[in-house]
Formats: sequence, structure tokens, C-alpha cells
Amino acid sequence: MYRIGQGFDVHRLVPGRELWLCGIKLEHELGLLGHSDADVAIHALCDALLGALSLRDIGYHFPDTDPRYKGIDSKKLLSEVMKLITGRGYEIVNVDITICAERPKINPHIGKMTDVLAGLMCTDAGNVSVKATTTEKLGFTGREEGISAYAVVLLRKI
Ligand code: MG
Repeated sequence: MYRIGQGFDVHRLVPGRELWLCGIKLEHELGLLGHSDADVAIHALCDALLGALSLRDIGYHFPDTDPRYKGIDSKKLLSEVMKLITGRGYEIVNVDITICAERPKINPHIGKMTDVLAGLMCTDAGNVSVKATTTEKLGFTGREEGISAYAVVLLRKI
């Protein structure tokens, strides 16, 4: 039995915040604004995982009105989501993530991002794809007002 899920997320770029993407901190003069660490890529991934098993979305499980999640490391949210997935007897087949950002350059960090996510999901790094694209200076990502991320996952019943 296979299940597919997709996720999408956006966070605003602002001064005075750290920039976290796929569980690692990038050096940049702007960071993503949010109740958690605002790791937009992990949030899209969590929504894809939840969506695959019709388990609602990340905001349902971790509401941004709950002080427990203020400033939380999104890696912890991904670990919690994985407990729901494995608890229902599913494992990762593969994951494919696309980050849309004009800056900073994501490509030098993709190996590390892949390793971090694979570790959190207890799967091989070969099952985790992280891609990055600009939007050719078009739209809110192109104007560096925010960063968006898309994720698709395939799960298999163990
Ligand atoms: Mg989010």
C-alpha cells in the first residue's frame, strides 16, 4: 500500500531573524519570520507527510497560538510527525523538496540538508532530494520578501 502527499509553505523574510532551512542555519542578513524557527522547507515536508495519510496539517497538530511551539526547532516538529507516520505502520519511500529563494545560495548546503532530513526520517540520504531554484527575480520570492517551499513524499506500508 502506497500513499502520496504534497506540501507547500511560505514565510516572510525579515531582518533580525535567523535563517533556518532543512534543519540547518544559513548565514544571511535576513531570516524567516514565524512562531517556530520558521523552517519553511521542513514545514512543507511535514505537510506532505501528514497529507499522505490524511492527517490534516502542521497547523492542526502544532498551533501557532500554543506557547509550547514558540521558537521551536522545526526538526522537533518533523520528528513528531514521523512518529505519527511510523505509528501507523508507514515508512518513507522517497521525498522531494523544492525551495524557492532568490538568495542566499542554497546549493552549497544541499548535501548537509539531505543528511539532516534523512536522519530525522530514518531513511537513506538517497531517498531524500532537496532542490533549490530562484524565481528569476519575479514575485515575492524574487523580490526577497519571502521564501517558499514545496514537498512531495511517497510512503509505503511496512
Ligand atoms: Mg510554516
